[in-house]
Amino acid sequence: MATRNMILAFHIWTTEIESHSREYDSWGSGNHKPTFPLEGMEIGDTEEREKDLFPDILREEAVSRLNQLGKVSDADGHLERTFLSPASKRAINLVRSWMEDAGLRTWVDQMGNVHGRAAGMNSQAEALLIGSHLDTVIDAGIFDGPLGIVCAVSALKVLKISGKLGNLKRPIEVIAFSDEEGVRFQSTFLGSAAIAGTRPASALQISDKSGVTVQDVLKENSFDATEESYLQLKYDPRSVWGYIEVHIEQGPVLESLGLPLGVVKGIAGQTRLKVTVRGSQGHAGTVPMSMRQDPMAAAAELIVLLESICKHPENFISYDGHCNGFAAESLAGSLVCTVGEISSWPGASNVTFTVDLRTMDDMAREAIIFELSNRMYQTCDRRSVSCMIERKHDAGAVMCDTGLSSELKLAANSALKRIAGEIQDEVPVLMSGAGHDAMAMSHLTKVGMLFVRCRGGISHSPGEHVLDDDVWVAGLAILAFLETNLSSDPDMKANLLSNYLTIDQDRRISISMQYSFMVTKYLSERVMLLCPTKSVQLAFQNSRGSISAKHI
Ligand SMILES: [Zn+2]
Repeated sequence: MATRNMILAFHIWTTEIESHSREYDSWGSGNHKPTFPLEGMEIGDTEEREKDLFPDILREEAVSRLNQLGKVSDADGHLERTFLSPASKRAINLVRSWMEDAGLRTWVDQMGNVHGRAAGMNSQAEALLIGSHLDTVIDAGIFDGPLGIVCAVSALKVLKISGKLGNLKRPIEVIAFSDEEGVRFQSTFLGSAAIAGTRPASALQISDKSGVTVQDVLKENSFDATEESYLQLKYDPRSVWGYIEVHIEQGPVLESLGLPLGVVKGIAGQTRLKVTVRGSQGHAGTVPMSMRQDPMAAAAELIVLLESICKHPENFISYDGHCNGFAAESLAGSLVCTVGEISSWPGASNVTFTVDLRTMDDMAREAIIFELSNRMYQTCDRRSVSCMIERKHDAGAVMCDTGLSSELKLAANSALKRIAGEIQDEVPVLMSGAGHDAMAMSHLTKVGMLFVRCRGGISHSPGEHVLDDDVWVAGLAILAFLETNLSSDPDMKANLLSNYLTIDQDRRISISMQYSFMVTKYLSERVMLLCPTKSVQLAFQNSRGSISAKHI
């Protein structure tokens, strides 16, 4: 017979079970008030409460996954995973399996980014994206990048196990970006920039040291690698609600404060300069000191000048003229200038060095570069050497969205309270000196970031370390953030349900759908919305009278 409008009868038996409280403020009462650091603290006075903190998923499994991912390397003896390398492909498969384990629909896009999406109650609503990167530097630590991916997937797994994944108000999508560090192609954000649409299709033609292009690598890995497929990766801003990212701090501030989490206010803008000093080598024994044009000594003076200006910009910068528009205070906390590579060739007649200059205030960065350049040229004139200052890279500062940051702060505070009870200190607000995928994503949507304490502020090194308990509290913070995206509106649930089924006074449910198998899984989740504190058994009876039972 035709099954187009098959009527299924559902008999539901409900059994009262003890309601598990999801209110975590109970941790704050009583005598149990552990303090930070969390390592070694006494958790919970009952097994039941500890279950609410999901240590098996958010701590043990998350840490184990980070260690597992940390072993996926292209090199023996150290961690190295660059854009679409053999190890990266193994990492993609691993992360994809974890996403599926968390109940997410997964796919790998044309730039090798791994996506895992939970549709929630309205698959057409603007999505919340949560991401970080899967690639590493050479001889990397295991947390920079993967921490943000693993924490997000773990938090979603908790929602799945709690039967809440279908109760999300908006789609949630975790993205493991294929390239942030830019090791192979010397071009950062290859993964996130494609999704944010900040880079033209010519990005496919960027080549590595051996002349192999991004397009070549994609083709080798059976991706389309056409300009059209690349441009299609860009997300429609109207389909996205926001982007959040969890990342290690890569600095020592949280550790010095004794707190595991911090909210990021913004990511510093950056300029990279290449300074070339040309002099005359002169014979070491024959040219007198008064006539020497040693570029090495001149370069040394320029480097000390750079340090002086950046340590005390107030002594060098006048706050008038073209420098108007930034506050002196904005420089004080966030200005960092460093010299990276120095080389001389041939011998010592030419010296080049690179300068990395970062601050939250783009106007102030311009003012510093203006002042620095003027004084560098003066120094070179005085020393009778020639100087050339080239701007090699510029990236504007990115401010995190204040609304998202407030929500992340609440979520972080809530996570800390869940674990440690009442806490004295507020979650601090930090600046990020390092670039992150959030910089690229800020061109697509509003962004927010959460930093996690790392030992000694060390990153990009095997010495990188995050406490197991800090991994846990980061996962709890994401979980708390996701819980604010759960629907608590009973009318909305009722409306959603009414599209599919009716319930009579005897708790008999009828549903009108084309095929029963299409609704079984869907119904399981939806019935849980109706009876979240009950144990529910469904009996499926089709129009031919056969019955199958399902216990939820
Ligand atoms: Zn990173």
